[in-house]
Amino acid sequence: MILGKHVSIAGGLDKAVARAKEIGCNSLQIFVKNPRGWRARNLTDEEVNKFKQKLSEFNFSPLVVHATYLINLASPKEDLWEKSIDGLITDYSRSGRIGADYLVVHPGSHTGDGLEDGIKRISKAINDVLAQVENGTLLLLENVAGAGSSIGASFEQLQQILDNIVNKERVGICLDTCHAFAAGYDLHTKSGLDKMLTQFDEIIGLDKLRVIHLNDSRHDIGTNKDEHAHIGEGDIGKEAVKAIINHSKLKDKPFILETPWFDELPDEDVVLLKKMRN
Ligand code: ZN
Ligand code: MN
Ligand code: MN
Repeated sequence: MILGKHVSIAGGLDKAVARAKEIGCNSLQIFVKNPRGWRARNLTDEEVNKFKQKLSEFNFSPLVVHATYLINLASPKEDLWEKSIDGLITDYSRSGRIGADYLVVHPGSHTGDGLEDGIKRISKAINDVLAQVENGTLLLLENVAGAGSSIGASFEQLQQILDNIVNKERVGICLDTCHAFAAGYDLHTKSGLDKMLTQFDEIIGLDKLRVIHLNDSRHDIGTNKDEHAHIGEGDIGKEAVKAIINHSKLKDKPFILETPWFDELPDEDVVLLKKMRN
C-alpha cells in the first residue's frame, strides 16, 4: 500500500521525510514554502540534496507537494490573479527542483463573478504556468468541498477545466475523500462509492486520478464543509474507508493522509489503515 501523510518541513526538508518514516509511511506530502504567505524562503542546494538522499534511502514514492493556500487561479481581480500565477510558478518550479511527482492545487473561487469565467481563468492560468515552467512534475487539480463560490466540487467542473488545458499529459486530479463527501458524493456506502468511481471514470477518466487525499469528514454528506477527521472518527466512517483503500480501482493509487498530527506515536490513522488493508 502506498501510504503517505502531509508532514511539516520545520527544521528543513529532510526532517519531513524523517517524520513520515517514523510514523510508518512510504510516501509524503509537503509544502515547499509557508502555505499562508506569498514569500518563499531560499532553498539551498545542500538542503535539496539532503532531502533527495533521504527519499531514495527510504525508497519513498511518490513525492507530493501541496500548493500555497492563497493562490486563487479563478480570481476576477487582475492583481490577485497574476499574483496567483506567480505563486503557482514558485511552487511549481520548486516542486520540479526537489523532484516532486505531483503538485496539488485547489482550482479557485470566482468570488461572485460567475462559474463560467472562473473556469476559463483557471485553465488560462494553468496554461500560463505550464508554458513558463518546464519540468517533470504533474500538476493535479484537487476536488473541493464546494463552500461559497469555490470551483471544482464536481467532476464535471474539474473536467471543464481540464478540457481547456493545452498540455493535457502534464495535468491530473487529486481526489480528496473528505471534500467529495462534503460535496455530496456518497462515499459512505459501497454502492455510493462504486457510483462515484463510475462517474469519475465516465467524466474524467480514472487514469487521470493520480493521488487520493484520504481524510474522514467532521461534517455530514453535502454540508460543503471542509474539516478533516481522523480515520474512522468522522461521518465517512471506518467501514467506508476500508472499502476505499481496498477497492480494485483505487488500491494501487497513492493514499495521502491530511488528518491532524498526533502528539504521541504511533500515528493511529496509519496503524488503523494498515490493519484494514486486505
Ligand atoms: Zn488541498
Ligand atoms: Mn486535500
Ligand atoms: Mn481539506
